[in-house]
Amino acid sequence: MADVFYQALEDGAAPETMADSVGKVFDAAGGSTRISAGDFVAVKCHVGELHNHTYVPPAVYRVLGEKLKALQGQPFLTETSTLYRGERENAIKHFIHAQRHGFTFEATGLPFISADGLAGNTETEVAIPGELNQRVKIAREILMADALVSVAHATGHLGSGFGATLKTLGMGLASRMGKLRQHSSMHPEIRTAKCTFCKKCLTWCPEDAIVEKKGKAFIQKEKCIGCGECAAVCRFDAVTYNWGMESGLMEKHMAEHALGAIQHMRDKCLFIDVAMNMTKDCDCMGYQQSKFIPDLGVLASTDPVAVDQACMDLIRRQHGRDLAELSYPGLDGQIQLEHGEKIGLGSRTYRLREVE
Ligand code: SF4
Ligand code: SF4
Repeated sequence: MADVFYQALEDGAAPETMADSVGKVFDAAGGSTRISAGDFVAVKCHVGELHNHTYVPPAVYRVLGEKLKALQGQPFLTETSTLYRGERENAIKHFIHAQRHGFTFEATGLPFISADGLAGNTETEVAIPGELNQRVKIAREILMADALVSVAHATGHLGSGFGATLKTLGMGLASRMGKLRQHSSMHPEIRTAKCTFCKKCLTWCPEDAIVEKKGKAFIQKEKCIGCGECAAVCRFDAVTYNWGMESGLMEKHMAEHALGAIQHMRDKCLFIDVAMNMTKDCDCMGYQQSKFIPDLGVLASTDPVAVDQACMDLIRRQHGRDLAELSYPGLDGQIQLEHGEKIGLGSRTYRLREVE
């Protein structure tokens, strides 16, 4: 049974309070035992997209960085390029955007290093005991790291219903090709009755897969990579997915890529879920979001499945429904956790230990 350490926080707690709390659960969960002198320590962050300001704030990373440096580790902030067009589509834009959102060396004390190189294709194939994948493509610098501290923001998610540690590891540490593989089952369609042909999805589609047909948007299936960008940008609810089947497959792919990202350093990882400023959609969305449920607090564990399971359960206990049910009813965010447990990524059975 895994231990998950949890500290509750007041709704609306300041970034400094959040940072202090993350430091406490890091200590309680045995963060220091995961790091050896000289380790390259990847600190997985998410710097948000343009107009999106509900990401985990830089103050949290300063506290973690100070702890990791005190342990004589060599920590660095890291992230990968996105599939979609945006402020994080390559390492240069990503770095500049990280500075814009306060992830500076001055603020965090940590250098920002893209894990998958300039264009998102610096990758290594890793063999895993998966059901859907026997090999997965992971950002190379993650495989060069000796240890990992993953900081995940708990949110709803367009594709998986619930996004926290497993999504952060699976989607966030895969290379562009790895991300494509995870999205490969997702194929949207246009509801013509709702389409106003505003052309926004045409502008954002990274594959130029959307064209005009009879005055409406039309998706050319053979070009579509299933990235979901069209659904994210459409303001008229005109893009639809067959969620039931496709979401489950995507969640399983995500869990398998998460395994590929951490299995070389399985005993050198700590996973943190920040259940604050929780929004319907994840931090990749390029628009301003407001939190849609009151804040809960922060959790940490050496088990990536347990920390997400505990996070989901706490939210359900507090709000009657879990994040997937609250954000995308019809999606089942549990699939990723059940599959993660099945392939040996972690355990859904845990003991919750409150931190004073
Ligand atoms: S963004 Fe939506 S409404 Fe606009 S063209 Fe695309 S599908 Fe139609
Ligand atoms: S049509 Fe396909 S490739 Fe284009 S934005 Fe939509 S999901 Fe992505």
